[in-house]
Amino acid sequence: VRSDAVVLFGVTGDLVSKKLFPALYELTRRGRLDVPVIGVARSPWDDQQLVATARKSVAEASDEVDDEAFDALAGNLSMISGDYADPVTYQRLAERLRDAERPVFYLAIPPMVFGSVVQGLAAVGLADRGRVIVEKPFGRDLASSAELDRTLQGAFDPTRVFRIDHYLGKEAVEGLYAFRFANRLFEPLWNSEHIDNVQVTLAEGFGTQGRAGFYDTVGATRDVLQNHILQVVALIAMDAPEGDDTDAFREAEAAVLRQIEPLSPEFTVRGQYAGYRDEPGVAPDSNTETFVATRLTVDSPRWAGVPFYLRTGKSLPGTATEVVVEFKQPQRPLIPAAGGAAASANLLRFRLGRGDGITMSIQAKSPGAEVASRPVDLSVDFGAALGRRQEAYERLLDDAMDGQHLRFARAETIRQEWRIVEPILDLSTPVRAYDRGSWGPADADALAGGWHVPDLG
Ligand code: NAP
Repeated sequence: VRSDAVVLFGVTGDLVSKKLFPALYELTRRGRLDVPVIGVARSPWDDQQLVATARKSVAEASDEVDDEAFDALAGNLSMISGDYADPVTYQRLAERLRDAERPVFYLAIPPMVFGSVVQGLAAVGLADRGRVIVEKPFGRDLASSAELDRTLQGAFDPTRVFRIDHYLGKEAVEGLYAFRFANRLFEPLWNSEHIDNVQVTLAEGFGTQGRAGFYDTVGATRDVLQNHILQVVALIAMDAPEGDDTDAFREAEAAVLRQIEPLSPEFTVRGQYAGYRDEPGVAPDSNTETFVATRLTVDSPRWAGVPFYLRTGKSLPGTATEVVVEFKQPQRPLIPAAGGAAASANLLRFRLGRGDGITMSIQAKSPGAEVASRPVDLSVDFGAALGRRQEAYERLLDDAMDGQHLRFARAETIRQEWRIVEPILDLSTPVRAYDRGSWGPADADALAGGWHVPDLG
């Protein structure tokens, strides 16, 4: 049954403005959404304020606003202001949802209020018939994420809980799956016989953007390594699902996560950019990492001996999310690199951020009398080749309203991700300083024995 109402808790917040209003507008424009959308928050907003905020956020996200579509969305918007500890808030909500058979509740609120909201919904019977969407962070570690699961599943049937890792909703990330399993070309080579190493970089060319106080309690490992980066690793490393349904896909994804060994502090480098400790809200002796690089291994015959190098950081030279798959050299190297250069490997570079696409570096005959080769790039830009793709939140909301779980994380997936990162959480070894605009502390370079520089466009 498709959801017949959408409730946004925390409607006054950043996530709703940045992502959810534009997503609701796009869905309305495409004829996928014409149901009541109720905003809930403590701020005393009225319906007009809600509509005005939605308009502003849609205008910021779109090149051109289709007024008819926006007015249709605006006509569905309404506001409930109230405290999450007050039963009246939920009674008013239940009253407004009395005709809704399958409302969906989006918890765009800080995790510490999840519990009260879930209980409040349960108390008025809304949890029995609703779906619930939660965003990262799913706890701070294995134990607190299990606690969160108990809270959610104490009220909502597990089939009606939707955990967003928005990377799973990105078309470019889903493209990894299509690349591997819709092509015959590479899958036979996708193993330790042919692949030397895999590198995943999630680089941010900016700092904490005024949210240093929040960031200082989180750090790079919890913010993106535990979720987005491991999600990408799972798509690169997983075996083909045994069927084409949601369960088979999610099982294959969980299966590879189970094979990943816990990260080792010995092969982990944590960094902090210069000046971070002076930012408002940051402890003067903060040991929070704004950069982390590590080495991961997958304990399976397919990946035996293939290191996966992972790194992410803030205030790096630019913003990019990339996977580079580095192949081994030919079994019998017959053709030297031109000009006596060192042989370079075949690379597959998946660009997953803005300007997403794939670049394949191959060896080509170097011009001239010499029989030698040099690398050239074959490159495709998916935006140019395929046209507009949907935004992650647009697809995720649409899916959750349909009760479709394909692009949401299973409870087990999140547990496995915490198990993998647990040994490197809250390390007491001091973070290494790095300059803003650099690729992190020098020790991180040594870790991979040669990082490929991301394509910064
Ligand atoms: P936010 O702006 O900090 O907070 C959302 C709203 O929650 C606020 O507008 C506020 O509304 C309410 N709120 C704040 N503190 C509260 C408290 N102590 N008790 C009750 N309500 C409180 O958060 P956000 O950035 O939108 O994120 C929402 C959720 O999504 C969080 O769990 C966050 O971790 C997650 N998330 C956000 C992003 C993002 O891009 N922003 C990305 C990934 C995940 P009122 O004061 O009006 O009630």
